[in-house]
Amino acid sequence: MLEGRRAAAVELVMSLPWQHQPSTVQRKRLIDLVDTAWTAGWTSEALRAELVAELNGVRSLYAVWASRLRDLPPPRVGETRSAPALPPRCDDPRHDPYAHHRLLIDPDTDRPGRKCPNCHPDFISAKGGPR
Ligand SMILES: [Zn+2]
Repeated sequence: MLEGRRAAAVELVMSLPWQHQPSTVQRKRLIDLVDTAWTAGWTSEALRAELVAELNGVRSLYAVWASRLRDLPPPRVGETRSAPALPPRCDDPRHDPYAHHRLLIDPDTDRPGRKCPNCHPDFISAKGGPR
């Protein structure tokens, strides 16, 4: 798996509402499954929506997520067209490694500030031309 793609998979997995910190093995397993889902055409947004849906009363989130990822239906075509998967976040060191957005840390305030010109969706879709 490419480095940037792995980082994006880690980000997605760690953005899930874990009850406890996942073990290394659990994390790695879900990251691999996320990567497989991306290859199948799932977008991060659709995948996350699928994973966080209906978790009330779930005892082991990890078990639920692993089985949902293993048994994913084919992605809905309309969805993949209207929301193309974002490429992995770029490796600009001003990104907050623990945040999910594509903003760069403003050195003056130490807070996320402007949109990253390399990987923020606004800039990516602008580059992509007419749909
Ligand atoms: Zn970036």
